[in-house]
Amino acid sequence: MSYIDNVRASVAARNEGQPEFMQAVDEVLTTIKPVIESDPVYERNAILERITEPDRQIMFRVPWTDDKGNMRVNRGFRVQFNNAIGPYKGGLRLHPSVNLSIIKFLGFEQIFKNSLTGLPIGGGKGGSDFDPKGKSEREIREFCESFMTELARHIGADTDVPAGDIGVGGREIGYMFGQYKRIKNIYEGVLTGKGLTYGGSLARTEATGYGLVYIVENMLNAHSDSIKGKTVVISGSGNVAIYAAQKAQSLGAKVVSVSDSNGYIYDKNGIKLDVVKQIKEVERGRIKEYADRVKGAEYHDGGKVWNIKCDVALPCATQNEISEADAKALISNKVLAVGEGANMPSSTAAIEAFQKAKVLFMPAKAANAGGVAVSALEMSQNSQRLSWTFDEVDEKLKGIMRGIFEKTTEAAVKYAKPDDYVSGANIAGFIKVAEAMIAQGV
Ligand code: GLU
Repeated sequence: MSYIDNVRASVAARNEGQPEFMQAVDEVLTTIKPVIESDPVYERNAILERITEPDRQIMFRVPWTDDKGNMRVNRGFRVQFNNAIGPYKGGLRLHPSVNLSIIKFLGFEQIFKNSLTGLPIGGGKGGSDFDPKGKSEREIREFCESFMTELARHIGADTDVPAGDIGVGGREIGYMFGQYKRIKNIYEGVLTGKGLTYGGSLARTEATGYGLVYIVENMLNAHSDSIKGKTVVISGSGNVAIYAAQKAQSLGAKVVSVSDSNGYIYDKNGIKLDVVKQIKEVERGRIKEYADRVKGAEYHDGGKVWNIKCDVALPCATQNEISEADAKALISNKVLAVGEGANMPSSTAAIEAFQKAKVLFMPAKAANAGGVAVSALEMSQNSQRLSWTFDEVDEKLKGIMRGIFEKTTEAAVKYAKPDDYVSGANIAGFIKVAEAMIAQGV
């Protein structure tokens, strides 16, 4: 058995019942094969065994009381995966589906994504199976404080810097930051995605969505095309989806869909983002209300957006939201490009189908790295105790996304095929981390 096959078998045996984690590991191991085989240094240093095993995995009880006075308990997680190139960095997800497999797949992906940004951040992820949907303001606050009461002892501005992910936005980060400060009596940039009055960075909210569209535009430009005039299908209606839609519209594209876990909106006249923002960011309501407010818009209960005819598809909801059948529906409708705003939104079979059909496919580790990149810029601003303007941050973000596109393309050309951005992103992300691990010994 080859080195890679051996490692794969042992990771699978030791992580039974963790399908999402194995899916993420399999994709990386398969695509970095040419690099591993090009130099025995990786095997000699057991890099694959080490990179697939988190530095530590923390699981803890999160008790809180609901509005009826009942004591409730959720499970909290923080997986500190790899800090070879910087403090652990990655979001916190609050969603009922959260379990160790999901946090580990996210933490594992974060290692390579963060490396690709070119900034000094390691990989980590956390969260809880707490469901924020339908919870009162007080319940959310109490949960966040209780969660941080335990998490505080494991993190720090130079150790591990969490941020948002699904179910965690500015409000939750604020409550967690307040609790950290109370417990530790240290005012430091321990979380990113903070409010602008207490150390947050301008353009952090927009960064993931904007970055996604910047890199998709880089990819289209490299193929003598652009997003201008294209019909774009977007899933999700969180901050990735909203700001991807905003940037796509500002570059002249027509965005015709958004969705949430209940269903999707198809608006052939182009999604009105002020309405989406009012429903999602202000009222914290369901996307179906869009159809009551905008004439000509259709709401489809259940179902997915991938049957809508489009040129560009931007999955911005969650993992495995594009199955093989969904990919085939997009392909038969002649989709040109796919950019992953969510983490691992395409199943393995869907990626294979896109690549076989020569759809330009930009994987999550490259495509959605703009969010964590601006988080790293927030860390820099906090360390310097100053703040940059929106335009300064946005310009840096554009440069970072271009850098990611170039590194990804270069690695794809050198080790795989020119348009194989999946291999390119994994390889470019991996080489930097592996070099740092080797330099630092065991
Ligand atoms: N949750 C985001 C991601 O998947 C952002 C993480 C961060 O800003 O630390 O990359």
